[in-house]
Amino acid sequence: MSFEVKEKDLLARIGKLRTKSGPVETPLLFPVINPTVQPIPPKRIHEDFGFEALITNAYILKKRFKNETIEKGLHNFLDFKGVVMTDSGAYQILVYGDVETTPEEIVAYQEQIGTDIAVILDWPTGWKATRKHAEQTVEETLKRAHELFQIKTRDDILWVGPVQGGRYLDLILKSAREMSALPFHIHALGSPTEVMENYRFDVLVDMILTAKMNLPIDRPLHLFGAGHPFMFALAVALGCDMFDSAAYAIYAKEDRYMTESGTARLEKLEYFPCSCPKCSSKTPKDVMEMPRSERQVFLAEHNLYACLSEIKRIKQAIKEGRVWEHLELRAHGHPALLQALKRLRKYETFIEKHSPIAKPSGIFFFSHIGLSRPEVVRHKVKLSERFTPPEKAKILVLMPQTKTKPFHRSRLYKRLVKTLRNVLSEEGLAKVHVCFYETPFGVVPVELDEVYPLSQHETALPPDRETVDYVAVQVAKYVSRTNCKTVVFLNDGETWGEKVLEACRKACTIKGIAFKSFDVEDDWTTLLANFLRESEQS
Ligand SMILES: [Zn+2]
Repeated sequence: MSFEVKEKDLLARIGKLRTKSGPVETPLLFPVINPTVQPIPPKRIHEDFGFEALITNAYILKKRFKNETIEKGLHNFLDFKGVVMTDSGAYQILVYGDVETTPEEIVAYQEQIGTDIAVILDWPTGWKATRKHAEQTVEETLKRAHELFQIKTRDDILWVGPVQGGRYLDLILKSAREMSALPFHIHALGSPTEVMENYRFDVLVDMILTAKMNLPIDRPLHLFGAGHPFMFALAVALGCDMFDSAAYAIYAKEDRYMTESGTARLEKLEYFPCSCPKCSSKTPKDVMEMPRSERQVFLAEHNLYACLSEIKRIKQAIKEGRVWEHLELRAHGHPALLQALKRLRKYETFIEKHSPIAKPSGIFFFSHIGLSRPEVVRHKVKLSERFTPPEKAKILVLMPQTKTKPFHRSRLYKRLVKTLRNVLSEEGLAKVHVCFYETPFGVVPVELDEVYPLSQHETALPPDRETVDYVAVQVAKYVSRTNCKTVVFLNDGETWGEKVLEACRKACTIKGIAFKSFDVEDDWTTLLANFLRESEQS
């Protein structure tokens, strides 16, 4: 295997990709090098910035430097010691309609120049393609993918199988499934550039996840043209392992300054929000006064630093199991990213299935958007499928969450136990089942409250409306599954309002269960004791 996963969180992963020029660590950003214009020479990209890999265009190389590249070999030609990936010219097809080469020639050329990672000459679908055209691009790309394995002569190059289909998700699905059957080392999602340019990150989520769900999970996925650090977290969280960025240089040309949460125009900046080696020694005004070409290099270099540090932050977040938190932070940098984050709800089961169960840290729950995170989804599924409420329980007590965690160590719970012991016999006690209703997990039976992460999370109360609704639904579902004769509900109205209480009451009415509620503000232990005594007598 050329790819080995070391750490995971959500669908994000830190992996090791082995190439003939050595191993590289993913998630990996490949700066795009235009072989004809290089504001920052490849050697510096490697030595000064620490990029392990870059990507260049085999089609342009072939057209401009045909034999020179073959004679020198790609790495010598570029003067780059890291890993080189070559794109095939597919993007030129998208922009100019056609290229003056054939799929066979591009395969042979990439072998001759000795690239490390190569892409077949796929046919990008594009964003505005009609369905008919989209179908054609998928078919033709698949045909060329099959042909590769008849014509390739080297075994030391990693080949990329691009998935096409554009905005037609059923075509992405078909393309991904058929590509999976071929022995590619890496896959790529084609034509997302226009989707990203239009800030349709919600559509991008659909495209990436449709591909991801239908490709072998153990092969890395490259996202073409995703070169802005503000969306790296989203792409990595969805399982993209590799990206290429021409944006660092293109933005620099237009006096645009990248940050991890967006783009600034240089002339609008009074201060640099960055401490990279470039920005620490200059002010935006200094840079504005530089000659144009010098300014471009300055901005391109800063942009590369901005990309690199965001990749490092994401890697650290994967290590710490905090990718969701990082993603929420970034998603609040732009409404279109937040919309994309909300879209994850549609895929929560798939994401949960591939997310690690144990984590090194607790979780932060910010708002109802976090209800899609794997830990919450997992608890919901486990509780309904693998946890049976105790059979002999006749009384279900529902208590609000407490600041103390695990909840069974709280004063509130201790008071409950004391009251129950005062009133009930051992036999009676065995018939009581206690659960907490809480943010964000819904219902937590006291037997489980030490299971990760039910006690290892932070949230601010009161919960938002959508989270209260979620908890109300979970409580009603749980009540309808028990065999209890009585439900005792301890309400914390100040935090929870009446919604959970009412949902619980309704579920009891439907199932013919006796329902009794007390308010935490009242002398509920006395009231509960009286209630239990009366019930025992009747
Ligand atoms: Zn900087």
